[in-house]
Amino acid sequence: MELSELRQVLPPDEPAYRAKQIYRAIYNQKVADLVQISTLPAHIRAELSEHAELGLPLADSRFESVDGTRRYLLRLSDGRTVETVLMPEEDRDTVCISSQVGCPVDCKFCMTALMGLERSLTAGEIVGQVLFVARDNGLTISPNKPDSRRFNIVMMGMGEPLLNLANVLKATRILVDPNAVGMSERRITVSTSGIIPRIEELSESEVRPKLAISLNASTEEMRQQLMPITKKWHLKDLLEVCRTYPLRPWEKLTFEYVLLKDVNDTDADARRVARMLANLNCKVNLIALNPGPGIPYETPLPERVASFQEIVRRSVPCFVRRPRGLDIYAACGQLKRNA
Ligand code: SAH
Ligand code: SF4
Repeated sequence: MELSELRQVLPPDEPAYRAKQIYRAIYNQKVADLVQISTLPAHIRAELSEHAELGLPLADSRFESVDGTRRYLLRLSDGRTVETVLMPEEDRDTVCISSQVGCPVDCKFCMTALMGLERSLTAGEIVGQVLFVARDNGLTISPNKPDSRRFNIVMMGMGEPLLNLANVLKATRILVDPNAVGMSERRITVSTSGIIPRIEELSESEVRPKLAISLNASTEEMRQQLMPITKKWHLKDLLEVCRTYPLRPWEKLTFEYVLLKDVNDTDADARRVARMLANLNCKVNLIALNPGPGIPYETPLPERVASFQEIVRRSVPCFVRRPRGLDIYAACGQLKRNA
């Protein structure tokens, strides 16, 4: 719940500061139970527990990779599970969170696609993944502490976040509000397969994460094959919406490109990508395919990836994303409940 919603579930004769007191206690002090808000009268607790539930998802299982990546299978209140991944790095921690249980978008290289969509997550379940991982690992999220490591969130787990945009934006507001979790918008990124009208809607939101687009092909035809959603939302129009996207002064678009051996990884593809993106304020992240059962593609050799990067880099910054947690199926596109 946001502050305005909390106000509504409290009895109308309660003092105005009450909702804010509870809101801060939950998201800022991160109490685990209403009992921990010691100044809260008993009747309010009773009232609240009738309209709302306070709690975090439960860890059904956790897997730890040799590279330090942790993958959690988190159980929601209806018994369904989603995956959340923590990737510790030298100077920062990145949490990859899910926006849906499964995904309705049918990308041919992604294991989450094989599940189909079970349901979308609530804003509480989205924020809950972040708070759970922070608590489980003793991480401080608040930016005001000079000693705290940088904490980043990427909405790149299970699901298509822009098909659950209202909840993604509500979760973002709670994560960003200084009275709640208090993160910077610059540290939250949402990734989409390219749902054009939702990108436009996102651009109109006052508080919003940074935008990443999964490009994954260099031609309209190839993208229609790999990401059939392109038949509905064409690559040409997707690039057009990117061209007019209102970036904030500190912001760049990110394009992700999954390299599939002998499919979309040739030098000719790289040249087309370079040309396609040359006039955009953006960077490119290349990801060599993370393979998995049921995925009919292979991973290109490192030399191929390097050659692709070299070509794209001539026109826009281009990085190769190191796969994390491959041994525990925690890497991009591998999220599927194969506990
Ligand atoms: N649905 C959103 C966000 C989740 S997918 C989206 O598609 O953008 C996050 C990223 O993982 C996307 O860029 C996607 O292209 C990539 N991905 C999917 N399957 C992959 C695989 N098998 N190997 C590597 N990356 C993959
Ligand atoms: Fe869904 Fe993203 Fe996987 Fe495509 S790549 S199926 S949009 S999670």
